[in-house]
Amino acid sequence: MDLLKNKTTIITGASRGIGRGIALILAKNGSNIAFTYKSSENEAISLELELNNYNVKVKKYKSDASDFKQSEKLISEIINDFGDFDVLINNAGITKDNLLMRMDEKDFDNVIKVNLKSVFNMSKGVQRHFLKKRNGSIIHISSIVGLKGNAGQTNYAASKAGVIGFSKSLALELGSRNIRSNVVAPGFIETEMTSNLDENVLKEWRNSIPLKRGGTVSDVANACVFLASDLSDYITGQVLQVDGGMLT
Ligand code: NAP
Repeated sequence: MDLLKNKTTIITGASRGIGRGIALILAKNGSNIAFTYKSSENEAISLELELNNYNVKVKKYKSDASDFKQSEKLISEIINDFGDFDVLINNAGITKDNLLMRMDEKDFDNVIKVNLKSVFNMSKGVQRHFLKKRNGSIIHISSIVGLKGNAGQTNYAASKAGVIGFSKSLALELGSRNIRSNVVAPGFIETEMTSNLDENVLKEWRNSIPLKRGGTVSDVANACVFLASDLSDYITGQVLQVDGGMLT
């Protein structure tokens, strides 16, 4: 399990959910991990402890990915602490769902700021370092909602579609320097959040998916291992759907 040996990965929003799973599976594959969180201090401490079992260098950073200045400061701290990094995974994200009719301006702005502006902040932050070493892989976690839309999620869908346009443009800008930019678009991933849903609703969802099950955090993380590793050296500007065939 050393696909990512000698690599260092930055992951935003890894204290919980998918980001946490990505951190664990990347560490298992040999990557050093610099991860961020915004407010879940205890979860971040426990993830740091768990990651230390994998014999890789690990550090947590409290940093708001939607804040440009904090992101700049974060990147320079990571360079100080790790000396180098190879992969950025833009994972931090939030939802503030409502029908447009009832959606506040604040809830639109916040979702765009955390899900899309963060991608600008962090990608711009790592760009100079990647340009210098003429190597780097940037992975953005979008959603199939960004490809197909979803009632009650105009803000979220717009942010996730924006991430896809951003990534494809970045792939065109940086390809000649051997810097890759790809998107992972998860479908219905079963997390703590979905475990509270009615079992009948869950059954119906699972049934509507060609592979007949919800996705797991590991399904998403494994796609990230591939895009972070040299196995995907010739892949850029792509959207990899991890959705069990849901959007086909
Ligand atoms: P989650 O369980 O709510 O976790 C979100 C993570 O992001 C937390 O660690 C949180 O940290 C962090 N975060 C939130 N705002 C942040 C900010 N401003 N700066 C830094 N970190 C921040 O969400 P998830 O379900 O794992 O989702 C992860 C990503 O996958 C998101 O981009 C989401 O849109 C995408 N996605 C999820 C699904 C799904 O089914 N779950 C499907 C498609 C796409 P704190 O707790 O410390 O604030």
